[in-house]
Amino acid sequence: MMNEILITNKKLNAMGIYNLYDLLYFFPKGYDNQTNLKKISLLKDGEYSVIRGIVLSISTNFFHGKKKLIKAVVNDGTSSIELIWFNSAYISKVLKVGSEYYFIGTPKRNRILQIVNPQHKSISDVLKENDKGTNDIIPIYPVIKNISQKFLIKEIKGALIDLKNSIKENIPDEILLKEKLLPRYDALYNIHFPKNEKLLELSKKRLAFEELFLFQMGILSSKYLINSNKNYCFFDKREITKKFINSLSFSLTSSQKRVITNIFQEINQGKIVKRLIQGDVGSGKTIVSFILLVYMIENSFQGALMAPTEILALQHYNAYKDIFESLGIKVILLIGSLSFKEKKEIHLNIENGEIDLVIGTHTLIQNNIKFKSLGLIVIDEQHRFGVEQRKTIADKGIISNLIVMSATPIPRSLALSIYGDLDLSIIDELPSGRKPIETRLLKDKNSIEKMYNFINQRILLGEQCYFVAPLINESENNSLISLDELYNSLLHRFPNFNIEYIHGKMNSIDKEFIMKKFENNEINILVATTVIEVGINIPNATIMVIYSAEQFGLSSLHQLRGRIGRGNKSSFCFLIANTKNSDTINRLEIIENFNDGFIIAEEDLKLRKPGELFGTKQSGAIDFKFVDIIHDIHLIEHVKKVVSNYLSQNNGKIYNSTLISEINLKFIN
Ligand code: ADP
Ligand code: MG
Repeated sequence: MMNEILITNKKLNAMGIYNLYDLLYFFPKGYDNQTNLKKISLLKDGEYSVIRGIVLSISTNFFHGKKKLIKAVVNDGTSSIELIWFNSAYISKVLKVGSEYYFIGTPKRNRILQIVNPQHKSISDVLKENDKGTNDIIPIYPVIKNISQKFLIKEIKGALIDLKNSIKENIPDEILLKEKLLPRYDALYNIHFPKNEKLLELSKKRLAFEELFLFQMGILSSKYLINSNKNYCFFDKREITKKFINSLSFSLTSSQKRVITNIFQEINQGKIVKRLIQGDVGSGKTIVSFILLVYMIENSFQGALMAPTEILALQHYNAYKDIFESLGIKVILLIGSLSFKEKKEIHLNIENGEIDLVIGTHTLIQNNIKFKSLGLIVIDEQHRFGVEQRKTIADKGIISNLIVMSATPIPRSLALSIYGDLDLSIIDELPSGRKPIETRLLKDKNSIEKMYNFINQRILLGEQCYFVAPLINESENNSLISLDELYNSLLHRFPNFNIEYIHGKMNSIDKEFIMKKFENNEINILVATTVIEVGINIPNATIMVIYSAEQFGLSSLHQLRGRIGRGNKSSFCFLIANTKNSDTINRLEIIENFNDGFIIAEEDLKLRKPGELFGTKQSGAIDFKFVDIIHDIHLIEHVKKVVSNYLSQNNGKIYNSTLISEINLKFIN
């Protein structure tokens, strides 16, 4: 195995390369391709390029007496460009005015087009490299200080030559053939030292396929493990479920009905349901999961509902416990404030089947609860429920239907790549009568004053308001407004209103008390941290003010805003931002201009890396190098199909030992 051949070279270790696998999968960030040389007049903002030009001038500037900035102007006969180096005093000694060099980097348009910290190569060096390598396309690696391109080229080329006959294929032959993919060795060779453009493209294609293939194999094969054990009888009783649906104060939207019908069908076909339900904030995902839970319970199974916060668990419990009781369904709330004895009794009653439905937080799966006949696990409003936790469920061997409700809508391609093992249902309409939320970004004192007058009027009309602060008290970071400060200033401003606060560090009894009062309209203004971010449903709250809005990600803002606009009254969201940074303002304007969570998610994705967005970064499994999760949706879907076909043809077995060990490497660490 490539990863078993260790590398002890200190320079390579410093770059995170510890074995041959790391070395060969340390890819170039670009290529110095003489045929691709760009004219300076044709350079584009943000496009990694190579130029060849004469240095017209070099100057050294000092900042605050210490930092050095070297500026050079280079001309290639079509135009000039400014090159800038920070803290690289040696550059001014190496480059000679009047000489010609290659420069490699990414131009950025600031005031004018510039390249910051470009690499440089002398013409004679490039000619020598070409003579030796006989390649026209030279790799450029993302090297760190004190490590040269030449050194890496030598190491990687050496490894490729040594390993010519020992690199094993990790994609089964029949798939390789059918997909017309380059063999692994050829792809690795040509991604480092492309013989020509065509082979470079084919190598990228093969490696993109490989990334997705390993990823999907990892998650789909564990799904297979669960599915293959399945054997339960199901009578498809629907009386209680119908009663439950009829007891609701509204009728279901056609999207909701479609999703429910599909899942009923799947269950009746004897399939194990593993599904992600997506829908914008307020589209009515939660009620869909309750209907499915009632259905499973009516058919003699138990259900578990996991919410991301205790407040939300409580809200679900309070909203439905009366209906459930009247239908003869035994429901219990399992949260932290219970005593050890109470918990123990609950555990016992779950194990002997007394309890039909448990509502709690995601600690439900961590605790060692045994169910008598668990039929459905619902994970509500979760965006932090990653591959890892799903593996916990799989590892426990719980054979049960699983429904995950995403808190934030995410683009289909992303859903497929992170939730590759789950099928996708989309609720793509909002209940009728919803009015779009008016969102305003406020930047000056004057408009903030106006906002306070407006809030005053609205509260006098009986509506309620959330204020959100990014942190609880000042000590955490005194440049931001805290919940404490906001609460005190509101007490001054509105002495006649009932104002309370809530945050995640309060104990569950206090949180429950406050939420109850807010729900009963005994509180006019609730000051909160992001504990109210997901799921909270109080239709009479129509105004939200978010302080230090620049501190929140777009999906958080969209989620927060989703707490209002849940009834049929007009709702208003005010974002107060303390920033002049144009990127930040652009970001907040996306929230101001769009109400559609799917659009916001796409924009958010463009601004951040997916792992950051969904808290799965630590798993590393979706850290793709060749796959772009926005643009490669077709490839993502295609590979998912290839993998599930392979697994079903082989009864879930993988007959390629290299593949097995590389999946393990990726997923089990
Ligand atoms: P989500 O979980 O998708 O954010 P919820 O399930 O909390 O949304 O639903 C938001 C609100 O809309 C709740 O008050 C819920 O009772 C209500 N609701 C759900 N479905 C419908 C519907 N079909 N018609 C009217 N109101 C609905
Ligand atoms: Mg919900």
